[in-house]
Parts: sequence; structure tokens; C-alpha cells
Amino acid sequence: MIVNMQAGATDSQIDHVIERVKECGFQAHVIRGAERTIIGCVGSGGRRTELEALLAAPGVEALVPIAHPFKLVSRQLRAKPSEIVVRGIAIGGGRPVVIAGPCSVELREQILETARAVRAAGADMLRGGAYKPRTSPYDFQGLGQEALDLLVEAREETGLPIVTEVMSTEDVDAVSDAADILQVGARNMQNFPLLRRLARASRPILLKRGPSATVKEWLLAAEYLLDGGNPNVILCERGIKTFESELRNTFDIAAIALAKELTHLPVVADPSHGTGRRSLIPAMSRAALAAGADGLMIEVHPCPERALSDGPQSMDLPGFASMMADIRPAKAPQHARP
Ligand code: PEP
Ligand code: MN
Repeated sequence: MIVNMQAGATDSQIDHVIERVKECGFQAHVIRGAERTIIGCVGSGGRRTELEALLAAPGVEALVPIAHPFKLVSRQLRAKPSEIVVRGIAIGGGRPVVIAGPCSVELREQILETARAVRAAGADMLRGGAYKPRTSPYDFQGLGQEALDLLVEAREETGLPIVTEVMSTEDVDAVSDAADILQVGARNMQNFPLLRRLARASRPILLKRGPSATVKEWLLAAEYLLDGGNPNVILCERGIKTFESELRNTFDIAAIALAKELTHLPVVADPSHGTGRRSLIPAMSRAALAAGADGLMIEVHPCPERALSDGPQSMDLPGFASMMADIRPAKAPQHARP
């Protein structure tokens, strides 16, 4: 439920309503706008009938039910898009952010060469997997802490903030020490203990959509992070399972536009996993941006044919540079400094 206060409501009227909301068993999320204050009443144990009586309290204009099962992420509660700033780079601030780098960190030279090249091409952040969720236990599983150290070295040299996946609650502290944004992989979107732990992490979270998750389930997974205390969540559409078999996944562009309609959180798009095919990435990147995406996450490798994971969907360095020239012509990158 949302309590809309009147435009001229006083601080003491607002404080009184907040008190009553809490007495009714709800958490009060107060959003102070330029004109009026609204109070989101959220929680599972609240007494709704008692809350509804607040319509009679001084300064209250209306009580409006939140139409969706997700509350804190919903645009109904917060109409203004959220902007998440990482080392001076704004995600959701209007200018699309490009996160680029290899699927996995494999070698010192590989990650440093990629970091330099994607920076020169205009990327804003560097990605690279240290802990890899692989379908087969026999596939490359990532270099773990060694990869985190290499990512830190790449950031020190290029200034690019680091995005990398955290797969387990045990690794949250170590990954937070190195990374600027913690990625929750598609397979972990509904790993609720991990989400609860990340809600207490000191870093923003990039939450990938599960391969079989509806948009509602995706937003409810984000709700876990906000409900647990982390408001800095970036959603990432990365394709879903459908009956289509020519492509690795079906890149769900409508879900990008829909998520932008339903939530104030920034939404980025990953056409690399979304298609599984390098040749489709430029077209799907343009499509994602046209649908309203706040940024792109693109896999890039200096030699895709030698990549230890996701080579067929990785762009090479010249390919990435020419795509960037196309999607961001003559615009200077917004580089952060180390
Ligand atoms: C990745 O980003 O390399 C990755 C494993 O992505 P996803 O979780 O979307 O499959
Ligand atoms: Mn990958």
C-alpha cells in the first residue's frame, strides 16, 4: 500500500503517519518528492485493515494499493528512474553504459590487453569471470582469487571499474574486495540465500534474468535485494529458453521495455549470452538501446577461437571497436580514474 500525503503535509503529520504504519506491522519507505511525500508500506506481517484507517489521519490524501507483488522495485512507488553511480560512472543516468570484457579471466596478458582495447574503444567498465557457473563440471571453472587479482591490476592500469560474478555466499567478501559491481548469474537468480547475503553487501548488484524466469520472478528476485537493504540493483536481460534451437537463448527485447515500464531500476542488456552468436551482437545491441536499455554488457576476447568459455559469442577487439564507433559515434567516453 502507498500512502500519498497531501502537497502541504507538515513534517509532524508525515512523522505521525510513519509511526502508525510501523505500529500496523509494516515497514515505512519514505520517498520525499519535490511536491509531495509518499510512504510505501511494505511487509508480510502487517495489518491491512488498520492501515486503511489512516485515510482519516491529518495530511493524508489517498491510500493506493501497489498493483504488483514486487513493491520496492516498482515504478508505482518510485516514479523517477534510479541512477547508480560507480566510480563516477552513472548507470541509469540517460547515457548508455558499456561493460565489456571476456567471459572468463584466463591469463594476465589476455585480461590486460582486453581492458586496454575496450577502454580505447569507449567502454565504461570491464567484465571478466573469476568464478564461472559452467553446465559441465569438466569445463573451465575460472581462476578464482587469481582472476580477481588480475582484474584489480587491470582496473589500476585502465581505471575501468570491474564487474564480476559471485556464485556463493562464501565468496561475497573476497569478490566485494576486488569488484565494483557484483554479478548474480542467470542460474543463481533465485538463489535466495545468496540474494539475502548480497542484500547486505557493500557493492551494487547486477542481477541477471534467469533463463526460465518471467519478468515478474526477475523483479521479485530484485525485491529480495532491496528488501534486505541494498537499493543499488541493476537488472540484466540475457536471453531466455524458448523452443528456438538455432540460437543459444532467445534475447527478450520486449522484457527490456517492460522492465523499464515496471521498475525504476536500471536495465542493461547482454546480447552475447542473449544470442550466443557474435554476428548478431551489433544488431541486438542497437535493438536493446532502442528498447530503452540503460547499457550493454558485451563479451570481448583478443582471440575468441582460443577462449576457454563462450568463444562463439565473443567479439574480437577490432569487431568491438567498430561496433562501439557505430553505437556511440563521436562521443567521448565517461572514463573514471583509478
Ligand atoms: C557470464 O556473464 O559470463 C555468464 C555466465 O552469464 P549468465 O549467468 O547470463 O549465463
Ligand atoms: Mn559468458
